[in-house]
Amino acid sequence: MSTLKHDWFTQQVPGKPMGRYAHIVTVRVTDSYSLFQTDGELNTARMNSGVALTDLITRLSIFKRKQSTPERLVGRELLRRYGLISGEEAAEKKEVGADGLPICDYNVRFCTQCPDCIAYGFAIGDAGSEKSKVITDTAYSLTSYDESHEAFTLNAPYEDGTMTRHGEVTSRINEQDHVTPQVIFPSVITTRDLTENLFLYVLNNVQRAKRYGAQTTRTGRMQNHVIAIILADGEIFSNLLFTQTLYDSLKAEGKINPPDPVDPSAVIGAAQSIIPALLKEDGVVIDQLITGQALEALLAEVSAISAQEKSLKDLLKRAFNDSQAYHQAWIAKASKKK
Ligand SMILES: [Zn+2]
Repeated sequence: MSTLKHDWFTQQVPGKPMGRYAHIVTVRVTDSYSLFQTDGELNTARMNSGVALTDLITRLSIFKRKQSTPERLVGRELLRRYGLISGEEAAEKKEVGADGLPICDYNVRFCTQCPDCIAYGFAIGDAGSEKSKVITDTAYSLTSYDESHEAFTLNAPYEDGTMTRHGEVTSRINEQDHVTPQVIFPSVITTRDLTENLFLYVLNNVQRAKRYGAQTTRTGRMQNHVIAIILADGEIFSNLLFTQTLYDSLKAEGKINPPDPVDPSAVIGAAQSIIPALLKEDGVVIDQLITGQALEALLAEVSAISAQEKSLKDLLKRAFNDSQAYHQAWIAKASKKK
């Protein structure tokens, strides 16, 4: 990683918070119809449209787990694919699979030592818990709910393609609100006290994750544009402030014209230009701000690692060594004490 400050990262994940925050600033854009919902309804929140603009609008929201879960699953799939965790299900008194690898069964029994367990955390009843070192918060749509969703009917026809059988119309018709394509969700992903390897593991997951929300085979595609990486000694601006500030700026430039979708490249450009001012307001020490060409070079390097079996395996292995070292130092000890 030529551009990233290697020395800035801790050599080991510390047992106590050490104030090393690496932020991945993204603009998430829906690529197909999507569902971010609870109990069949899209999640929304009512709020000021901007910081300067104070008219109220309703925005779509994506809760934090709906962002982090798909990213975790992408990484876990790679850990299994390249032989670092077992694909076996959790079974009683069995911690290692027939393949000799630790069994890590998501939300059933976590192995407490793989990069996923250590970076994203886990909770396993009395067996302990590990706080997530990847912090995400609810993301809000740039544009209002009214122009960012569409209601349509999902048909489940009979085999002959009709909706009737024996003269009766099927009740298998559901009306469902969907988030439309090209809706933009600005979102900051914060990692705390991770080693460089574990940070790259998380970044690779963000770059590779392509499906979010409740899914069918044709819905839920999303593109994550990483627009800045910031190394700092504290937390930075929230998703909401980021979204509202972007809204002010794009509105002033005449780039928000409902019901038309907003051009993602305009959003990315505006985001890059407002970040320095937002960071100034945060009052934290910025050790490195990577944007523009330097960022593109860094992301290209990560993509190149991720596109080659050997280099990807090496990265996963290095991340695994780091997570295992943390397990040895802080988790194995604690469970022995009991
Ligand atoms: Zn695990």
